[in-house]
Amino acid sequence: MLTIAGAGMAGLAAAARARELGLEVRLLEKGNRIGGSMLLSSCVIWRYQTLEDFREECPGGDPALQQQVIEQLDDALAWVRSLGAPVVWEETGNPRTVGLRLDPPGLAEALLRAAGVESQLGPAELPDGPLLLATGGFQGNAALVERHVRPAAPLRLRANPWSVGDGLELALARDADVSAGLDEFYGRNMADVDFSEAEFVQLAQLYGQYATVVNVRGEEFFDRPVSWSENDLVQATARQPGAKAWYLLDDAALGQAVRDRTVTEIASAAPTATAPEELPFAAPPGTKLAVRVASAITHTIGGLRVDTRARVLDRSGRPLPDLYAAGADVGGISTGGYASGLAAALVFGRIAAETAAR
Ligand SMILES: Cc1cc2nc3c(=O)[nH]c(=O)nc-3n(C[C@H](O)[C@H](O)[C@H](O)COP(=O)(O)OP(=O)(O)OC[C@H]3O[C@@H](n4cnc5c(N)ncnc54)[C@H](O)[C@@H]3O)c2cc1C
Repeated sequence: MLTIAGAGMAGLAAAARARELGLEVRLLEKGNRIGGSMLLSSCVIWRYQTLEDFREECPGGDPALQQQVIEQLDDALAWVRSLGAPVVWEETGNPRTVGLRLDPPGLAEALLRAAGVESQLGPAELPDGPLLLATGGFQGNAALVERHVRPAAPLRLRANPWSVGDGLELALARDADVSAGLDEFYGRNMADVDFSEAEFVQLAQLYGQYATVVNVRGEEFFDRPVSWSENDLVQATARQPGAKAWYLLDDAALGQAVRDRTVTEIASAAPTATAPEELPFAAPPGTKLAVRVASAITHTIGGLRVDTRARVLDRSGRPLPDLYAAGADVGGISTGGYASGLAAALVFGRIAAETAAR
C-alpha cells in the first residue's frame, strides 16, 4: 500500500500510475477539494526544447533531474491524454518550449478516475509505511517562507492555501537533505491589492520587461534585462521595501502586448493603476501610467533532495526507506530560473509510483 499525501498534480499522477502498475493506493488530500494549485493554474505543461536550454535557463538545478523531465514529459503528456484529459492548446505559444495546455478540472477528473480511488479530504495523520510526499511546497506557511526565502515583507500567496510545508517538515524530521536554492520561488508581481483565487491570472502584471521598474522610494533596483518569465524580477521585488514595486509605463510600453491582452488593458484594469502626478516620487518624463505591484509566491523552488527515482535522500545522499517526493515538495529542478512546475510534478509523480511498485 502506497500512501500519497496531496491530491494535486503530482499526487494525482502518482495515484493513476500506481493503479496501472497494480499498486494499492491511499490518497490523502488535506484541503476541501482535489487538484491543488493545478486546479487554479493556466495548466500549460511544458519543457524546454533541449537539456542544454534547460541548463542555461535553470543553471542551479540538478542536471539528472532535469534530464528526466526532458526525456519523460512527452510520454507523460501522451499518457494523460490517453486517460481522457481534455487538451485546450496543442502547443505552448512559446518558441522556447514544447508542451500542451490542458483543462485543469478535466485533468484532475481524468487522473482521479484512472486512479480508481476516492481521495480522503481534510487533515489526516500520515500512516507508517511507503509514503509519497506530494504536498505542494511550503509557500502557504509564512514562517517557513520568512525563514528560507527571506523576503523583505510577507509575500502574498498565489496558490492553494494548504501547501504549508508538511512534506518538507516530515522529511526533515527523518533527516532528509534539502536541495540548493531554498530561498528561490516562482511567482508573479500582482496588482497590490487583496485578491481571490479567481484573480490569480487576471491581476498578474506580466509586463515588467517593458516598464521602468522602481521600488516604493522611486529607486530603480533591477539593473539587467528582465527574463522572459519575469521570475527574476518578481524575486528581486520580494527583496525591496514592502516586497513592492512600481511599474512606470510610457507610450511604447503601453503599446506592447502580452499573450492575448495589451499592456494598456492589463495595466488600466489593475486597481492600483495611478496617474504619474499622484506618485510619491518624481516619475521619469514620458510616464503615462504607473501600477503598484506586490510580489506574490506561487510555489517554492527549493525543497527536498531526491534522486532520479523520486526517493528522498538523506544528508549523505542515501535514499530514506519508503519515502518518496514529487512536485513542489522536491527542490533542485528549476533552481536559478524557472521551469514548468506542472511538468516536474507530472513526471516525478509517475516516477515515484514506478519506484514504489518495484
Ligand atoms: C495561478 C497559477 C497559474 C499557474 N500556471 C501554471 C502553468 O501554466 N504551468 C505550470 O507548469 N505551472 C503553473 N502553475 C504552478 C502549478 O500549479 C504547480 O507547479 C503544481 O500544481 C505543483 O504540483 P504539486 O502536486 O506539487 O502541488 P499542488 O498541485 O498544489 O498539489 C498539492 C496538494 O497537496 C495538498 N496537501 C498539502 N499538505 C497536505 C497534507 N499534509 N496531506 C495531504 N494533502 C496535502 C494540497 O492541498 C494540494 O491539493 C500555476 C499555479 C498557479 C497558482
